[in-house]
Amino acid sequence: MARYDYDLFTIGAGSGGVRASRLAAGFGARVAVAEDRDLGGTCVNVGCIPKKLMVYASHVREELEDAEAGFGWTIGERHFDWGRFIEKKDAEIRRLNGVYERLLHAAGVEILAGRARVVDPHTVEVDGRRLTAAHVLVATGSRPFRPAIPGAEHGITSDEVFHLKQQPERVVIVGGGYIAVEFAGILTGMGSTVTQLYRGPMFLRGFDDTLRSGLADEMRKKGVDLRFVQDAVELCRREDGPLCVTLRDGSSLDCDEVLFATGRSPNTADLGLREAGVELDDAGAIRVDPFSRSSVDSIWAIGDVTNRINLTPVALHEGICLANTLFNDRPMQPDHSGVPSAVFSQPVIGTVGLTEAQARERCDEVLVYCSGFRPLKHTLTGRDEKSLMKVLVDAESDRVLGIHVLGPDAAEIVQGFAVALRCGVTKAQLDATIGIHPTAAEELVTLREPVGRDLED
Ligand code: NDP
Repeated sequence: MARYDYDLFTIGAGSGGVRASRLAAGFGARVAVAEDRDLGGTCVNVGCIPKKLMVYASHVREELEDAEAGFGWTIGERHFDWGRFIEKKDAEIRRLNGVYERLLHAAGVEILAGRARVVDPHTVEVDGRRLTAAHVLVATGSRPFRPAIPGAEHGITSDEVFHLKQQPERVVIVGGGYIAVEFAGILTGMGSTVTQLYRGPMFLRGFDDTLRSGLADEMRKKGVDLRFVQDAVELCRREDGPLCVTLRDGSSLDCDEVLFATGRSPNTADLGLREAGVELDDAGAIRVDPFSRSSVDSIWAIGDVTNRINLTPVALHEGICLANTLFNDRPMQPDHSGVPSAVFSQPVIGTVGLTEAQARERCDEVLVYCSGFRPLKHTLTGRDEKSLMKVLVDAESDRVLGIHVLGPDAAEIVQGFAVALRCGVTKAQLDATIGIHPTAAEELVTLREPVGRDLED
């Protein structure tokens, strides 16, 4: 007779929780996962996947314009139907929910629909039912954070923007991170009028400065009203319908929706974690050791709830490591170094490794290779859009420290170069690689002369 009902009880069926559960079951563990919402978590339901589908939908506008301007096409009347698109998008998300369910079943993982709470280090409760497990995995993700300003309840977050019944004509986006810039591009492309407010002097803090300002220029050209050193201090609803946003400088703006894209908070409330002895940090995230173990030996945590690097592929990696550590006799610490990422802004940012500022802090001499050019396609369309590529090299060792790309396909390009960086690629090896012509990516293997000045000045 087993001592516990399960070997692993996972709370949360998002990217990390599902991957860890399936893999653990594959290693022979008896696994259950509890989820009180749709399977697949943020990424599948209100994150990466529907966001990328929206990017595709919004980008059609420029493709049609370009076809007419540069490639001899005559396009008839254009109209974007928000309702029709949302229906298609929702159908795809439902299909993916089903895929997740089938994958879990096929792996032999028991799915419990309901909210789970930790009762003690080996016991969880789901809708009044107590279950025991040798190990409990908390993979509950994060939720959008809304600043505490008067009238904040009138605004929406990324959880709601995917389900709006109507396309807002005028939108104010608050924030300057991934979600804010991505939705500024999406909604502008779909035809909304977008004002983006960012409290600091330049958005996308933490990204390479050349790309930050390059993206700001491109977004402005596409019609986004970007306002830096600006913020919303109060929201109210006017009697005749629109929202009124009071800005930090005392001016005000009327709009149909305010989207708060002001970060996310770990989902640790009402889970019984503190009572069970699980330590949380100041942001409410679960503190874990390098193996993702919490301060309680039998309780583990992965993904956004630990607030390490909050990206789906990182949560998947943490899940793989955990399942191997616990049930495959192969202890694995997740490796959080050199994680590439993309911002699906318009144009896209793809990035891996150090920014120029970080590289200069860590190395005596940094060689900066940079190229700015108009994509070939736009030589015919006349569109005023510029791509940027930047390669940072440690002068002493010739090692490539960082690669940053702004432009169409940047995410696809950087994924490949991220492998090279992981392998310790040198500038000489990039130079020895033959380019593929004509592509934008070939620039990265044909950058010959370092720029003689600090581009971030
Ligand atoms: P981010 O942490 O990326 O950005 C939050 C933004 O909101 C920052 O610009 C921040 O400013 C600003 N902000 C924070 N608090 C306030 C406040 N009280 N008032 C005004 N502004 C504020 O969060 P997001 O919500 O954009 O995204 C959450 C996370 O989800 C990302 O960090 C990322 O990990 C993940 N994600 C990844 C995507 C991808 O891979 N493409 C896409 C979307 C999300 P400041 O910089 O000054 O602190």
